Amino acid sequence: LLRVENVWKTYRSQPVLRGIDLDVAPHEVVCLIGASGSGKSTLLRCVNLLETVDDGSIYLDGAEITDVRADADRVRKRIGMVFQSYNLFPHMSVLDNVTLAPIRVHKTPRAAAVDQVRELLERFDLADKAQEYPDRLSGGQQQRVAIVRALATRPSLMLLDEVTSALDPELVTEVLGIIRELKESGMTMVLATHEMGFARDIADTVCFLDDGVLLETGTAEQIFTEPQEPRTREFLQRVL
Ligand code: ATP
Ligand code: MG
Repeated sequence: LLRVENVWKTYRSQPVLRGIDLDVAPHEVVCLIGASGSGKSTLLRCVNLLETVDDGSIYLDGAEITDVRADADRVRKRIGMVFQSYNLFPHMSVLDNVTLAPIRVHKTPRAAAVDQVRELLERFDLADKAQEYPDRLSGGQQQRVAIVRALATRPSLMLLDEVTSALDPELVTEVLGIIRELKESGMTMVLATHEMGFARDIADTVCFLDDGVLLETGTAEQIFTEPQEPRTREFLQRVL
């Protein structure tokens, strides 16, 4: 579904991604782990075309999305992204936040868009919050709205960047439960996370990023029980 090939990214002559290769199969859940600054967010932003890559290619369903002729809006329709800081529009109700993309990007008529998201709002227990504004919701609810908003365009791939790190501990469990449910529904996902327990639990594949290099890839079991690279072992000893 997604293929990242030899991707390089440099900020002001400082290399941040150094030749990343990554393959994600349909329904696969990949967790990116690694120290702060190792390049996890940058990699997700490159996949979503929020950043341009300096070298290498990214393919979605076999088509090169890093091609200069690729239509970034069309690519983003097929990729849902959720950030640590929700990024909801504060001046818009929950309903307007989640129907914005279907109406603007997909040109879905408003009534049909509202119909489509109603099911998602029910599924994520937000149906009674549709008319609320984001600042009247808890962090967990806001993050659920952000997830519904990303799902509203029916993406084939979801990218989640530290979606629980701004939340109180009791809300973390709630949002993690939703991500688990997404996995069970067959969603393909790439997540950056500092929650090792969660990564171990949900990931099919874990990728350890070290200073812009994808140093080690394996099943969750392999990475957490018998990491091969000394740097991976060192990192896990520090965070576990
Ligand atoms: P964290 O775990 O803290 O979220 P991360 O693995 O997501 O870290 P990135 O945010 O990808 O790391 O950052 C990787 C490196 O790129 C860091 O050194 C950061 O300072 C640098 N960087 C990221 N975005 C920019 C930018 N827009 N301009 C300049 N440097 C940047
Ligand atoms: Mg990050």
